[in-house]
Amino acid sequence: MHCYDFNVVLQEVPGEISLCFSISGCPLRCPGCHSPFLWKNQSGNKITLENFKEFLHQYYGFASCILFMGGEWHPHELIPMLKYAQSMGYKTCLYTGQEQVEPGILEYLTYIKTGPWIEELGGLSSKKTNQIFREVSTNKILNHLFIPK
Ligand code: SF4
Repeated sequence: MHCYDFNVVLQEVPGEISLCFSISGCPLRCPGCHSPFLWKNQSGNKITLENFKEFLHQYYGFASCILFMGGEWHPHELIPMLKYAQSMGYKTCLYTGQEQVEPGILEYLTYIKTGPWIEELGGLSSKKTNQIFREVSTNKILNHLFIPK
């Protein structure tokens, strides 16, 4: 699994300081994609479970959530990372363009954003978006937290 970009983000998971890993190799090809640099497989740096753990320890006590932008196409690498993050007490989140992901991934997620990018409907801050952000354990939809007041 390769990580194109790593950032500390505040908006993508409401109420959390998230360590955001953008995973390359997105197979979905949404028209108008805002991140086409994520399409190419293996662009960026290889991320192993070992260096992922180092990141998590480095930010422990500062960040509260681990966010993956994609990566569901590498379940055998993604699942152990999510599992490890939860074992340390981090919340976990996946942004996927798919409508659903396999149960083995969902099991280790606190939050998930599903749905492809459709330009005319907009992202989570749009009231007419097709995308859904929800808390996995309750299935509660939390899109309202993204709508500007
Ligand atoms: S899921 Fe995201 S990164 Fe992948 S093609 Fe769609 S908009 Fe682009």
